[in-house]
Amino acid sequence: MTILITGGLGFIGSAVLRRLLATTDEAVVNIDAQTYAASPESLGEWRHHPRHIHIRADICDAAAVHAAFAAHAPTHVMHLAAESHVDRSIDGPAPFIRTNVTGTLVMLEAARAAWAGRPGEHRFHHVSTDEVFGSLGPNDPPFDEHTPYDPRSPYSASKAASDHLVRAWQHTYGLPAFVSNTTNNYGPWQFPEKLIPLVTLNALNGLPLPIYGDGLQVRDWIHVDDHAEALCIALKHGKPGATYCLGPRQERTNMDVVRAICAVLDRLRPDPAGPRARLITYVRDRPGHDLRYAMDPSGAEAALGWKARIGFEEGLESTIRWYLDHEAWWGPIRDQKYAGERLGSAA
Ligand code: NAD
Repeated sequence: MTILITGGLGFIGSAVLRRLLATTDEAVVNIDAQTYAASPESLGEWRHHPRHIHIRADICDAAAVHAAFAAHAPTHVMHLAAESHVDRSIDGPAPFIRTNVTGTLVMLEAARAAWAGRPGEHRFHHVSTDEVFGSLGPNDPPFDEHTPYDPRSPYSASKAASDHLVRAWQHTYGLPAFVSNTTNNYGPWQFPEKLIPLVTLNALNGLPLPIYGDGLQVRDWIHVDDHAEALCIALKHGKPGATYCLGPRQERTNMDVVRAICAVLDRLRPDPAGPRARLITYVRDRPGHDLRYAMDPSGAEAALGWKARIGFEEGLESTIRWYLDHEAWWGPIRDQKYAGERLGSAA
């Protein structure tokens, strides 16, 4: 195997890259454009490892992507590079269509050209989200491999489009491709625009903790290490044409999550001004905010011999401890890239 991953300097991609380098002997080529969401520091000592080849390139740049395939002859591709934040997709959808749709097209065409007529095992693993399935009511059964698509934000529509392209390339051209869809990830190195790091850092700094609408939206939270483990198993054992719905069965309301963060911080780093729940502030809801996402992972668990292991409360506490210990990473991001201001209110 020679593995090519895209988006390996992002939150999930870096967890996958660290795991692949640590647990296999494979070379890993990483194509990443280094957008605002990239963190080269997240690779730590692996950044300069001889089996890690970093190519700074945009996946929409067909010449650069084809050149990477020609130079490194990857047998397996894991495609994670994407614009990933729903709120940013509301303010400016165009980069989401460009990277998530056109970029996926470029990756598929490069793999198709490189693997045509070449014998041997090849796999194209496309990493996607549960958001492509739309929104569940409180009593609906969770999503699974048979749930019809119903994306409702520019982000989820762009990811749905990319999933459809991957399946079409598998069906039409016989590209050995498959898709995994998973739930909200959390853990170390997540850019502090997403709920858990944003609320943790605001709470730490005595700033308002924004709750969109009534805060009763439900998400099914998977620790990034559980997700990365599943992705690495799927990359090796995934079947062309398959869909793997990955999840931990850990539904929580956004309000539950924010209150849990406050409780952990109050214990680990008490605030003389009082319990952090006092900082909870209701703000206007996200336009088109989906009520509930939840996944039934039974099919993927059986197919991959995998199961999420990290309990939400345990994973949340270790994540908060990690943020407390890594101000050297998030401090400059908050100062220079994103200070926590409201995004996604353009609609
Ligand atoms: P992220 O935003 O943290 O990282 C994205 C990475 O892709 C960054 O390193 C960025 O530099 C790179 N990138 C962006 N545009 C690029 C381009 N045009 N060319 C090359 N590189 C580019 O994202 P993430 O949270 O790690 O998500 C990774 C994948 O997993 C995405 O496809 C996302 O849709 C999917 N996903 C994420 C979650 C989640 O909760 N974070 C849940 C389900 C699925």
